[in-house]
Amino acid sequence: MKFDPASNIQDLLQFGEYGDVNPSVTDSATFTFMQAKTMLETFKGEAEGCFLYSRHWNPSNKYLADALAAMEGTEAAWVTASGMGAITSALLQMCNSGDHIVASMTTYGGTFAFLNNWVKKFNIGVTFVDISDLEQVKAAMRPNTKVIYTETMTNPLLAVSDIPSLAEIAHEAGARLVVDNTFTPLIVAPAQYGADVTVYSLTKFVNGKNDCVAGAICGTTDFINSLIDVNDGTAMLLGPVLDPFRSSSILKNLHTLHIRMQQHSRNALFLSEKLKELGMKVNYPGLKEHRDHALLKKLMNPDYGFGGMLSIDVDTAENSVKLMEQMEMEGVGYLAVSLGYFKTLFSNPGLSTSSEVPEEKQREMGMSEGLIRFSVGLDHNIERTFEKIRKCLKQTGMIK
Ligand SMILES: *Cc1c(COP(=O)(O)O)cnc(C)c1O
Repeated sequence: MKFDPASNIQDLLQFGEYGDVNPSVTDSATFTFMQAKTMLETFKGEAEGCFLYSRHWNPSNKYLADALAAMEGTEAAWVTASGMGAITSALLQMCNSGDHIVASMTTYGGTFAFLNNWVKKFNIGVTFVDISDLEQVKAAMRPNTKVIYTETMTNPLLAVSDIPSLAEIAHEAGARLVVDNTFTPLIVAPAQYGADVTVYSLTKFVNGKNDCVAGAICGTTDFINSLIDVNDGTAMLLGPVLDPFRSSSILKNLHTLHIRMQQHSRNALFLSEKLKELGMKVNYPGLKEHRDHALLKKLMNPDYGFGGMLSIDVDTAENSVKLMEQMEMEGVGYLAVSLGYFKTLFSNPGLSTSSEVPEEKQREMGMSEGLIRFSVGLDHNIERTFEKIRKCLKQTGMIK
């Protein structure tokens, strides 16, 4: 039977103690016990269904985590206060001082900064590779490599990772594959292709409202339990827990994700094709000429299209600034970082989200200084939006 993430979420029975159709929101940091013995058992992780303290688990976070595990088809999940909280907790749980990570050269800027600068404090080595070059990935593996790290669709270049092959390389070397699936929820379920841990910034498409930051880690029950172990769990001890009020609101938004992803993808494909017709340099995995079009087609759930992210290259940073300012004035969307919002957002990664990446590395990755990344919104009339963009391209002299 086809893996059907939206139905997996829909089929969960989650409701409040009075039959409230939305689960009650946890408004407590701590939980009472009738017997001291049960409290000790909960501490040791031996009491099923008992909550002890909100940094460890609380019912609201459990509902959201269970829904995300259902979406990914993993045994378990845990929710964090940000995407970076998820990424850093997962990686620090897997690596000790002296260990090694093989990571994609193109990742979210914060992830790049963490891997390039921060993990040095703990003597964790990182080799950055072109993740599409599987021979380069294999050659980078060392006896102490614990993790291969990548994004399903990399930020900002939208290269697609060959998750089944990367999982094989990792497992042959006794390492684990960690995949950031922030750009492609529902479209790709990395665990179905052998990824050991899937991480998310829920801030983006999953929540879709840009009203908070949040993250998630999906994996085996053993891994999730190790993360929140009271003695040595990274998440338990560093404490990046999500607030239960936010869990509750994100859970409600998760239930419309399948409809939103379809519209994001439909709109992004439409804009990509139209911009290409105008002669613009367009980068969108849904276009046949995109380098990873065939690979994404192999991995994706066709119900949700090729995603809501696209980029165009207008050659110079100066051009990009002119065009973005004009598009904001014309109401195409907002000049803002982040993505997955109901309105269109655009930014130049080199001047924003990837500015952590040194300029020569940006060029090495193939990131042009004139790159504009779009997170295409849920616009009802995307033809009208396209006409606005066309007008801006004319006004800024980029097309005749
Ligand atoms: C935004 C983002 C992150 C970081 O998430 P926060 O919620 O901002 O901490 C990580 N990975 C990707 C791909 C992102 O787009």
